[in-house]
Amino acid sequence: MQFEKGGLWRNWAGNQSCIARYKGSPNSEDQLREMVVEADRRDLNVRVAGSGHSFTPVVGTGGLLLSLAELQGINGVDTAKKQINVAAGTRIHDVGIALKKLGFSLVNQGDIDSQAVAGAFTTGTHGTGIKLPCLASSIAGMRLVQADGSVLVVDGSDRELLLASQVSVGTLGIISELTLQVMDAYNLHEHVWRDDFETCMKRHDELAANHRHFGFFWCPTPQSRHLYCIADTADAPRTSTKKTADVCEMKVMDITDKPPMDTPFEKIAYSSEIYPIEYVPNFHELEYAVPLLHGKEAVRAVRELMLRKHTNCIFPIEYRFTAGDAAWLSPFHNQDSITLSVSGQPGIDYWEYLHDVDSILRRYGSRPHWGKMHFLDTDDVTALYPRHGDFRALRRKLDPKGRFLNDHVRMLLG
Ligand SMILES: Cc1cc2nc3c(=O)[nH]c(=O)nc-3n(C[C@H](O)[C@H](O)[C@H](O)COP(=O)(O)OP(=O)(O)OC[C@H]3O[C@@H](n4cnc5c(N)ncnc54)[C@H](O)[C@@H]3O)c2cc1C
Repeated sequence: MQFEKGGLWRNWAGNQSCIARYKGSPNSEDQLREMVVEADRRDLNVRVAGSGHSFTPVVGTGGLLLSLAELQGINGVDTAKKQINVAAGTRIHDVGIALKKLGFSLVNQGDIDSQAVAGAFTTGTHGTGIKLPCLASSIAGMRLVQADGSVLVVDGSDRELLLASQVSVGTLGIISELTLQVMDAYNLHEHVWRDDFETCMKRHDELAANHRHFGFFWCPTPQSRHLYCIADTADAPRTSTKKTADVCEMKVMDITDKPPMDTPFEKIAYSSEIYPIEYVPNFHELEYAVPLLHGKEAVRAVRELMLRKHTNCIFPIEYRFTAGDAAWLSPFHNQDSITLSVSGQPGIDYWEYLHDVDSILRRYGSRPHWGKMHFLDTDDVTALYPRHGDFRALRRKLDPKGRFLNDHVRMLLG
């Protein structure tokens, strides 16, 4: 088999790149298997680029870089079990369109829907909702192409294998297909408003408990929400860049059977049409899952840091909720959490800021998002993830030559 010459690959945000020797875009699982076998014969490492929406070096390789963009679509539907088989390269947006026609919805979604389903689900991507676990919890099975070209079928009959593979950051093989648990189609009623920080803190528990989804952005300056493309609320936008605003853009969403309507900051529509926000690639994000108990204290500490020390950091804090789950490498492993994210502004030296945020969030035993910037090393992973040793042992058994590693994931999970 001849491989296509590779070249420069960059992620969406532009903060990660690699020069792959070869690239490949298989159009079937069989072709994917042939490519992986050939890469193994040539002693090349193999990584997959989903949509490149991770900020961490989880994709790059100097070996064979695959795109599964040609493995698209819904391969099967089990109406009784409410499960779908979806090709690994399918974008979440397209899954939503297909599910709407089938009368189903994803259980939850994040802020964007442009990711490839395998890339998003298996890094522990999450939305917000105090009772809703991360997206990987919906994975009921998958097909994993191994270095020798065989296919490991994960179908839930071996629960431990399922929990190991739900969040694997591409290290257990190449996923060609996922089986996802979905639910009956639902509409969401979204309500966005603006409030001051202390009111937000006072209402934190009540809003989280009484809505299927609640989350907020804290914006240190009136302009900061525009940097993140957060929809404006009804208030007139202000233009000062002084850190005086202390404003939270609050958002709740609930399932409703009311008919769709379309007003700017209150909207009812099919689930997948409500979740996504528009973003432009202008920030480099760090995000940690903080134990729920410490959420308010953590956001206060980071806010103080931004107001007192890092006055040039004006991208908002995003604050969301995620329920604990059992996946071995889930940032929410057995831990109900809030997620707190901050962003480094491209063009400024943001490392001291991100290190300071990291120091604060570490105090609470927080676990980083695998796809967002963090400072974890091998020892941290070992300390934070009780099933880390089991994961490593399984990974080494399945891929003893480390074909599916790069330097970054080898350090964390090798
Ligand atoms: C603007 C923006 C908004 C975001 N919003 C959210 C959010 O709301 N919630 C949240 O939790 N995260 C969010 N993220 C992070 C994002 O969801 C994750 O980083 C996700 O992993 C990106 O998916 P991707 O398809 O781009 O995967 P990539 O970044 O391309 O890849 C991620 C990992 O998956 C591996 N991979 C991809 N496909 C396969 C496959 N078929 N088999 C094996 N391994 C594979 C890759 O090798 C890599 O290790 C956001 C990121 C951006 C840039």
